[in-house]
Amino acid sequence: MGETQVMWFRRDLRVADNPALAAAQAGGGRLVALFVLDRALLHGPRVGAPRLAYLADALADLHERLAERGSRLVVRHGHPAEVVPHLAASVDAAAVHVSDDVSPFARRRDEEVARRLEEDGRRLEAHDGVFVHPPGRITTGAGAPYKVFTPFHRAWRRHGLPAPLPSPAALPPAPELSGDAIPDRGELGAADAPAEPIGGETAALARLEAFLEQRASAYHERRDLLGVEGTSRLSADLHYGCLSPRTVLARLADDDPGHEAFATEIAWRDFYGHVLHAWPEVVDTEFNPVWRALPWQGEGAHFDAWREGRTGFPVVDAAMRQLLASGWMHNRARMIVASFLCKDLRIDWRLGEAHFLRHLVDGDVASNNGGWQWAAGTGTDAQPYFRIFNPTSQGQRFDPDGAYVRHWVPELAAVPDRYLHEPAARPSAAAREAGLRLGEDYPWPIVDHAEERKRTLAWFKEHRLEG
Ligand SMILES: Cc1cc2nc3c(=O)[nH]c(=O)nc-3n(C[C@H](O)[C@H](O)[C@H](O)COP(=O)(O)OP(=O)(O)OC[C@H]3O[C@@H](n4cnc5c(N)ncnc54)[C@H](O)[C@@H]3O)c2cc1C
Repeated sequence: MGETQVMWFRRDLRVADNPALAAAQAGGGRLVALFVLDRALLHGPRVGAPRLAYLADALADLHERLAERGSRLVVRHGHPAEVVPHLAASVDAAAVHVSDDVSPFARRRDEEVARRLEEDGRRLEAHDGVFVHPPGRITTGAGAPYKVFTPFHRAWRRHGLPAPLPSPAALPPAPELSGDAIPDRGELGAADAPAEPIGGETAALARLEAFLEQRASAYHERRDLLGVEGTSRLSADLHYGCLSPRTVLARLADDDPGHEAFATEIAWRDFYGHVLHAWPEVVDTEFNPVWRALPWQGEGAHFDAWREGRTGFPVVDAAMRQLLASGWMHNRARMIVASFLCKDLRIDWRLGEAHFLRHLVDGDVASNNGGWQWAAGTGTDAQPYFRIFNPTSQGQRFDPDGAYVRHWVPELAAVPDRYLHEPAARPSAAAREAGLRLGEDYPWPIVDHAEERKRTLAWFKEHRLEG
């Protein structure tokens, strides 16, 4: 019998296509499947109920899937740098296997765990599994990281698709070990989280099937429409690794324009992983140095109106309320509200980023930071500062029948389509035809978009540093 191995699960809460799990199994000895409930992840200001609810579901599902294969999940509370080496020593494990993660927090944590294991004569072995192509692998001919998506995407495609590993039929038994009970939603402080989505690999695989059957072929035509279910809703599954991105890609057809457009979004996920890996400072600093002296506004009445969905711009308010009520927001809406915060209110993108991370079920440091820096105009492949979304015309274009606004901002439900996205342009008609009293039932716009657009353009020019 080979040596005992530890599989330390983190953002790879699945048994299918899990290279770290396969490597731990290939060790040939007993196998401990471990999850550490790290205080820093459970109680930090950037984690909220939707993500914790998903995590609780996913741990219970992972335990079941391991048990079906003859193993089980051992859950421990504590700091990984203490828990992992201690557990590895107690079972005399040769190695601890993980899927390599990319955030600065994860990298610091893993360096510390690796150092402590080494002091004890053991190894931390990092494997692929979080991305299609792990951060750092796709580089320019000169070996540099890409700053622009399109050439990255070309190179990413040239690398081909690594074949997903089959799901193991059986796993080696675990040694006798005590562990903490698998926490449920309530125990993680997430009893009030929205019931959906149900987290975990089983639910994620079912969501993937439903998307492929019902929506994937029309994805390119419907993905931008706010009021229809046109996208996959797989982001939390991918964030927690309940689905491997390679498994998703392997199910797509080359000759289907919907599937192709969808694969490009998975490439964006890899792109932002690569960006964070190459430039970890982007977590709190503008990627583009010329924008590091912008005097952003902080919290205050405008920020409160934005996060509570009371700006008087219907599509912005619908989106912000969707986030608070459901833990998710449509991608087009994320772009609109992020642009509004940064370019209409000139409020610090870091505040918006933190709010998203706390409330999104798919809150992900790499993709969220990439999205925010894109919208702020400060990022790698960013929207230039002079392209400023008009929230009214975005609403008219991407929610033409008003289904999205009417669902999330019910006080506007009776407002006719022709001024639903701009009720303040026709206040007396809104009162007469829909009984809407602006300023009472629904706020007046908190800013004048055309004015703010001019100010923002001047503001960017004035505070630009020499590049
Ligand atoms: C300001 C802002 C913040 C964002 N924050 C996050 C975040 O915290 N977590 C997150 O997963 N995505 C984030 N995104 C990207 C995107 O909005 C979501 O991935 C998407 O809306 C999730 O819904 P879906 O699974 O139905 O997406 P689909 O359209 O079905 O896309 C499929 C998958 O591709 C990936 N993807 C799609 N668009 C992007 C993108 N622009 N960047 C990176 N990956 C992408 C996701 O994994 C997604 O699940 C953000 C975008 C913006 C503009």
